[in-house]
Amino acid sequence: MAKKVPYRTYLPEEKIPKYWYNLRADIKNKPYPLLNPATLKPVTAEELYPVFTKATVEQELDNDTRYFEIPEPVRELYKVYRPSPLIRAYNLEKHLDTPARIYYKFEGNNTSGSHKLNSAIAQAYYAKAEGFSGLTTETGAGQWGTALSEACSYFGLPLTVYMVKVSYNQKPFRKTVMQVFGTDVIASPSDTTQVGRMLLEKDPDSNGSLGCAISEAVEKAVTSQNMRYALGSVLNQVLLHQSVIGLECKEAMEMLDEYPDIIIGCAGGGSNLGGLIAPFMQDKLTGKANPRIVAVEPASCPSFTRGRYAYDFCDTGRITPMAKMYTLGCGFMPSPNHAGGLRYHGMAPMLSQLYHDGYMEAVAVEQSKVFAAAVLFSKVETVLPAPESAHAICAAIDEAIKCRESGEAKTILFGLSGTGYFDLTAYNEFLSGKMTDYIPTDEELQKGFDSLPKIE
Ligand SMILES: *Cc1c(COP(=O)(O)O)cnc(C)c1O
Repeated sequence: MAKKVPYRTYLPEEKIPKYWYNLRADIKNKPYPLLNPATLKPVTAEELYPVFTKATVEQELDNDTRYFEIPEPVRELYKVYRPSPLIRAYNLEKHLDTPARIYYKFEGNNTSGSHKLNSAIAQAYYAKAEGFSGLTTETGAGQWGTALSEACSYFGLPLTVYMVKVSYNQKPFRKTVMQVFGTDVIASPSDTTQVGRMLLEKDPDSNGSLGCAISEAVEKAVTSQNMRYALGSVLNQVLLHQSVIGLECKEAMEMLDEYPDIIIGCAGGGSNLGGLIAPFMQDKLTGKANPRIVAVEPASCPSFTRGRYAYDFCDTGRITPMAKMYTLGCGFMPSPNHAGGLRYHGMAPMLSQLYHDGYMEAVAVEQSKVFAAAVLFSKVETVLPAPESAHAICAAIDEAIKCRESGEAKTILFGLSGTGYFDLTAYNEFLSGKMTDYIPTDEELQKGFDSLPKIE
């Protein structure tokens, strides 16, 4: 029975997808529209144009077009690091003594070290093509800022990054990478925006949060001349761009005559997971196949497993449109001892709807277990995973162990969204036994829920 497939499967370069796949076209219960918080009506393209590029606004609002052509200059840059490899985790299988066949799609093979470059290139390209003079964005752990820095630098576009203060201080090298690409990096909250000044007045020692950095970046974009804002996750357009992961992956699995029984991905805002599962979820929605799809999130920031499905702001400053999503409330502040990324309070509206309708599952895992999985994976597979990605590894290991116990030879696919070379402080904490698990109490979560806008 045992098929001997290669460790690494690379599609040929000409198989890099020419189109992104828009999963919304095949979803019956469409994700809820973004709402304008002033009117409580769905946001219009005209309202979004001051914030995003025209092309991405159209992608954002389009629930019907199934395929969007990938512009030629974007494909050209994709060729530098794509197709990304699909890897058979033979060593991990052996170590776990499992009959399961484990595959992972590895998106860490580029300088940014993560899948985020896939959408960064698209957003930077459109901003340049539409004649804008710069982009702004926020970054938490730093991967998105790095990815967008690379992309903007390639297309010759200035970039300002608001970096969550706790990361700015804990990950100085991330800042340096962005600066290498010519990016202006500002610690958030900062005194360069109204939102930032307000937050600093309330709490001068604030560690910042992604939600707050988003407020600052959006404010900066809309109050500057000819600048636009780019977001690295959560939005429909980002999940659309990330579909390149799943499209390549499905084709590579077809080459191997494989199809996953279980697909696992870590979920912060939902972009790598949404991209990986896109064509498989299409099969599920159209009745062609029925893989289990599992989102993995940190127990310290559990938006799917303990959040509310509600309209909420995408930022702490409450200046963005409202999205209906699984959320802990825009006022939720993850505990600072949470080391492994995935700190965002909400989840992509598209995945939220699919989860709500029972098309996918979610599990929450504690961070010391995640780091134990990361260390094991590094040793046997010789890739140092990003802590975010290690959430997926952790759940994949659990599934593989279940297969060992039941004797079922399932095919498990997970997304290895990136590498962990800039997360060594967290690895160090784990190795020196200083890492703690933090699970918010119901009362603490309630504080976040109290910050939800009261509109329903
Ligand atoms: C940003 C990031 C994530 C989380 O973001 P999603 O939008 O949920 O994918 C996961 N893994 C890595 C490596 C990241 O950089």
